[in-house]
Amino acid sequence: MFDYKAAFETAVEQVKSEGRYRVFADLKRVRGQFPLAKRRRADGTEQDVIVWCSNDYLGMGQHPVVLDAMKAAIDEAGAGAGGTRNISGTTRSAVDLEAELASWHQKEAALLFTSGYVANEATLTTLQRILPGLITFSDSLNHASMIAGIRNGGGERHIFAHNDLEHLEALLAAAPADAPKLIAFESVYSMDGDIADLAGTIALAKKYGALTYLDEVHAVGLYGTTGAGVAERDGVLDQIDIIECTLGKAIGVMGGYIAADAVIVDAVRSWASGFIFTTSLPPALTAGALASVRHLKAHPELRDAHQERAATLKARLAAASIPVMDSESHIVPVFVGDPVHTKMISDMLLEQHGVYVQPINYPTVPKGTERLRFTPSPNHTDAMMDDLVKAMDALWTHCNVARLPQVA
Ligand SMILES: *Cc1c(COP(=O)(O)O)cnc(C)c1O
Repeated sequence: MFDYKAAFETAVEQVKSEGRYRVFADLKRVRGQFPLAKRRRADGTEQDVIVWCSNDYLGMGQHPVVLDAMKAAIDEAGAGAGGTRNISGTTRSAVDLEAELASWHQKEAALLFTSGYVANEATLTTLQRILPGLITFSDSLNHASMIAGIRNGGGERHIFAHNDLEHLEALLAAAPADAPKLIAFESVYSMDGDIADLAGTIALAKKYGALTYLDEVHAVGLYGTTGAGVAERDGVLDQIDIIECTLGKAIGVMGGYIAADAVIVDAVRSWASGFIFTTSLPPALTAGALASVRHLKAHPELRDAHQERAATLKARLAAASIPVMDSESHIVPVFVGDPVHTKMISDMLLEQHGVYVQPINYPTVPKGTERLRFTPSPNHTDAMMDDLVKAMDALWTHCNVARLPQVA
């Protein structure tokens, strides 16, 4: 008979042999004290750690405005949504949140999903059903959820070299002029911290009659006057056809959405299996996200503080000859270039210095470019940065890892 256990063991062994096996840090965040967390060690003892790799970029997951809204929603409306949106799951705060998100992105409508992953997967699959013959043009560094949606749709697809508009144009020009086309890309790429040329991509979309689909997951809340993302910062909100975001990163809660023309949203709402057949977000999440978005819109100083913290950390690491990589955004990647060293440094930072930062290894990034990825928030103080830079400096010497300027 088939040896199921051995097959599962082989699957785990394969990941281990490639150095990709993950062990999650057992952390408890401390309410109101972000980025502090309590780590539980294997022996049950506890350690204070500073979280340096959270995607809760502005600490909104701890903000009293969000927490109060979530508690009030539970007291008023209870725990679960009670079903899918079709069957009893439409909650008032979900409707209000969709209106708020639509207006934030200057679109006619928005549609909530269970997560950003589901929003991408469901929408990109469904667009290929709504637009038969759709050809999708996808940036080579697009997130796994976009790749899943594009693949599942089963249509023709072309991958263009990352942020390479010449390559994109060559692919667009080679496709039939009258075929429906979609350009799928991100604004801020979260592993390198670089930012796409939105205006250039839009110009190509217009020239070749393509729709634009932009993932602003790592930009929403963080860029633009009201925090609507890079499309707002660059003044092109009205020229992106479909914007996709998460409620789980800078907004600090959980869930995902798209924003677009009403007819696009209505079509996706009516056709997307990943929207129709799943229980909708509970009232506490939608109410918390609504409070968070309203707060983010009104507080540009949070975005200024966020950029200042990222710039300061980059400068301080560089001053210590730590190989901080070029990044145009709030993401602070530090080059190590080897999976074993990356994991070792990450483990030592945690165990010896109370610094939590995940190693970023293949397949998330190409082999030989393994790195640590820091995401400083407005809540990361100068004193925390002092401790971090001191610890990094000591470990770089201890592990004999290449420094600036050798790494360039
Ligand atoms: C995290 C992420 C997503 C998925 O969002 P979730 O809400 O976490 O499911 C989508 N796109 C990108 C680029 C991401 O980094």
